[in-house]
Amino acid sequence: MELSGKLAVVTGGSRGIGRAIALELGRAGARVLVNYKGNAEAAQAVVAEIGNAVALQADVSTLAGVEAVLAAAEAEGGLELLVNNAGITRDGLMLRMPDEDWADVLDTNLTSTFRLCRGAAAAMLARRRGAIVNLTSVSAIMGNAGQANYAAAKAGVVAMTRSLAKEVGRRNIRVNCVAPGFIDTEMTRALPTELLDGVKQMVPLRRLGRPDEVAPMVRFLLGPGASFVTGQTFVVDGGLS
Ligand code: NAP
Repeated sequence: MELSGKLAVVTGGSRGIGRAIALELGRAGARVLVNYKGNAEAAQAVVAEIGNAVALQADVSTLAGVEAVLAAAEAEGGLELLVNNAGITRDGLMLRMPDEDWADVLDTNLTSTFRLCRGAAAAMLARRRGAIVNLTSVSAIMGNAGQANYAAAKAGVVAMTRSLAKEVGRRNIRVNCVAPGFIDTEMTRALPTELLDGVKQMVPLRRLGRPDEVAPMVRFLLGPGASFVTGQTFVVDGGLS
């Protein structure tokens, strides 16, 4: 129970990788604030499975949504662990990409992470402890045709994380990234089957990952075992990159 007594916020904790992270942190003893955008039923099911948890609807792509998450965390006793997991894709070739798809992906994947890190770090500074994990992607490292917006947002998350780690390290706050490869969630189920078959051929482990294969890395980085680790990106991709 290495996270006992700590409050963990997981954005986008209702489904997929965020759900697996919320369950993993709950098993490690944390009280979990499960944020979601629209799927209340799924979020409530996660909360019920964890027990020591609470659901919070908030659209973190907006400033008001981020402020609601930060206020709820303070009301719950103060934010000590943060996982910026909420994310979307709006795939399409860059030459035909509408501004809207660029902006939606940047707002949800990068600006939300910036604002939540900014607010959480301020709260953590006072307590002189805290840990943050930001979800990025192998797309940020490798690039991916059809994902210029997503890859740019996720690369921004990596660079922002490194910079923030240098700003807050002396106050005992750690910030790291986890970069999943192709994981079997609703996000990847939206991709064409032929594409996924091709991906499996490129992955040395010859399959997609499962959300519960990403979550333990996040738990490790938030916990005492990673007390000298900050500013890094850990890839969980079956060897793809
Ligand atoms: P997913 O299955 O599509 O789930 C997305 C989650 O994010 C849901 O809980 C959703 O809430 C929430 N969400 C979306 N927009 C939100 C917003 N504006 N405010 C609050 N919550 C929001 O996605 P996933 O595959 O688990 O991906 C999770 C993270 O891992 C993302 O950052 C993604 O980019 C990253 N990632 C995924 C893969 C992969 O292969 N799946 C690979 C690399 C990185 P609702 O349920 O309410 O809609």
